[in-house]
Amino acid sequence: MAECKKCLYNTKHPFGLSVNETCSGCDTHEEKYSIDWEKRREKLESILKKRGKRYDCVVPVVGDAEDYYILSKVLELGLNPLVVSVNDYFKNDIGWHNIHNLITYFDVDSIMFNPDIRVYKDLIRTSLRKFDHILLPFLTLHTSFPVHIAKERNIPFLIWGQNQAVEQVGKFSHYDSVEMSEWSRKEHDLFRTDIDTLIGNGAQVDYRDLNYYKYPKISSLGKVRGLYLSNYFKWDPLKQNHSTLKFGFKPQENRSSFDIYERAGSSVYYEFHDLLKLKRVGYRKVRDHLVREIRHGRISKEEAISLEEKYSSSKVDVRRFLKWLGSTKSGIEWFIMHRLKGFEDLIGESEIEIEIPKEIDKLLLKAEKPGREFITIGKGVSI
Ligand SMILES: [Zn+2]
Repeated sequence: MAECKKCLYNTKHPFGLSVNETCSGCDTHEEKYSIDWEKRREKLESILKKRGKRYDCVVPVVGDAEDYYILSKVLELGLNPLVVSVNDYFKNDIGWHNIHNLITYFDVDSIMFNPDIRVYKDLIRTSLRKFDHILLPFLTLHTSFPVHIAKERNIPFLIWGQNQAVEQVGKFSHYDSVEMSEWSRKEHDLFRTDIDTLIGNGAQVDYRDLNYYKYPKISSLGKVRGLYLSNYFKWDPLKQNHSTLKFGFKPQENRSSFDIYERAGSSVYYEFHDLLKLKRVGYRKVRDHLVREIRHGRISKEEAISLEEKYSSSKVDVRRFLKWLGSTKSGIEWFIMHRLKGFEDLIGESEIEIEIPKEIDKLLLKAEKPGREFITIGKGVSI
């Protein structure tokens, strides 16, 4: 295992990364300061000359700050988007505010897909048992349903925000202009699983219920292309997300990171999901945020190490999620005792006060705490 001299990543990163003094993610980040971004934008504009009959592009959203930024850029580029969202059933009141406000503020057409909750919960149970992951069923849908919509409605483009393989680990250069692909989806969004490995012989699910969980066949995909804006705009999430307040975005305070923008509005992302990430890959989400800030020069490596240590001891809620999933009281205790062995100290309620370095703090806003968690609008009936 080799560690990067500059950031907090090592060669065990789940996306795969190489280290030669500094890591491939840090090296690719440096491109941002020499790229002629005006030229990159012109290249994007020339690709987007092709227009659709009704909509020019699908914009898949979860309703967080990055989606606001993406949509503002899409409209600035003169495109007519169709916003597509998959209900993950994990939104709190802030999450619902943000997604409704996104659609009304920008006055765009939208589709929300509410998957069959019985099947969805079955898949989550299987994913939790097999992979210690509760978001895989959602991520599987989020990365395939919008592609189906583009295909079915002859919409020529999907516009995504950041390409994680470029931004986090630098697997490709910005100049490669990497586009969406089935391979990249499996490799980076779904951690090498897909719906077939997910169900295996575990979940008792009718195959017909899984259509939208599957990526469309390449041969039938035609000329639909998925582009990542981070290849064409100088990507700086904290700065960008800070600017979305003017659109009415509400940031959410969380105990596990200083980042109040990414996945704000989720009842699980910085709670149970974050603990499972620690169990699976050995670190929590805050490390990704800190690495990003080191690269943007807003925090030193030493400060980042000390912040990571503090945030990594913050407690998370596990019981609310397991109750939502339908576990019994004794089932929950069994799960904690057997499957979260060694992490018991991180389960529960606690508030921590952490001082944030100035350069980061000035890009943060006053964030709120959610009033209600797990609000199930759509097919919110538990069966
Ligand atoms: Zn690095």
